[in-house]
Amino acid sequence: MNRLTERTAVITGAASGIGAASAVRLAAEGAAVVLADIADERGAALAQEIQDGGGRAAFVRCDVSSEQDWYHLRERAHRLFGSVDIVHSNAFTHTYGPAHKLSPGDWDRDIAVNLKAPYLAVRTFLGDLRATRGSFVATSSVHALCSLPGYPAYAAAKGGMCALIRQLAVEYGPDVRFNSVLPGPVLTENWQDVDEEGRLLSARATALGRLGRPEEVAAAVAFLASDDASYITGTNLTVDGGWAVKKESK
Ligand code: NAD
Repeated sequence: MNRLTERTAVITGAASGIGAASAVRLAAEGAAVVLADIADERGAALAQEIQDGGGRAAFVRCDVSSEQDWYHLRERAHRLFGSVDIVHSNAFTHTYGPAHKLSPGDWDRDIAVNLKAPYLAVRTFLGDLRATRGSFVATSSVHALCSLPGYPAYAAAKGGMCALIRQLAVEYGPDVRFNSVLPGPVLTENWQDVDEEGRLLSARATALGRLGRPEEVAAAVAFLASDDASYITGTNLTVDGGWAVKKESK
């Protein structure tokens, strides 16, 4: 498929997992991709890999909680590929623990990386997205819908992100479409500390009986970014193998 030829996409958290799969997929569909992350080596290596495969790609260091880094990112993206048509806001951080044990500093950092970042992304790229009648996709999470102990700031940010997406769709339509994906358990670097038993438990909690692959979320991102989703805005799309709908009861 070449749904994104002539377009430029910025993807945050693109050095790993879902962001990396999104960068690879959007590039495979014809977009020039700007990979933004704080993991310099991995991000630069993936950009090189995409280039070696014939794609157009560049890595730009960007801490998504920093307003200054966003402006730098826009400047670099413009210089490299011209104006931006697609933004995939995907980077995240998470401090584990119940609310009373989370320090105010941890709370602030989690909210800044997970929720302030998409707002900064919009401030930075709204002009581009309006001019190109572009598409904005955020990575939220099933934690916006269902609760597991130990995720207060993360869940609050991801829930806020879904509300923010609806708000932005209304605010900036008809020029720009805003949507999000809500992944369930998807096997990425993020799962490296989860043992086999924990993985099996999560797999069994889905209707499809398995963990997801980052490429399966990237496929949904590419769809929402493309004209195939031209009448879809303000949607928060669950990509979770049925995790959020499965319940067990005797
Ligand atoms: P990952 O750990 O594989 O990748 C996250 C990337 O974000 C890393 O490359 C990291 O360097 C980057 N990052 C962290 N802080 C950053 C910052 N301040 N600025 C820029 N980049 C930063 O994670 P993943 O599993 O691919 O998660 C991607 C998205 O999917 C996140 O938004 C996450 O909340 C969401 N998600 C993942 C799962 C899952 O099971 N993997 C489930 C639900 C939601």
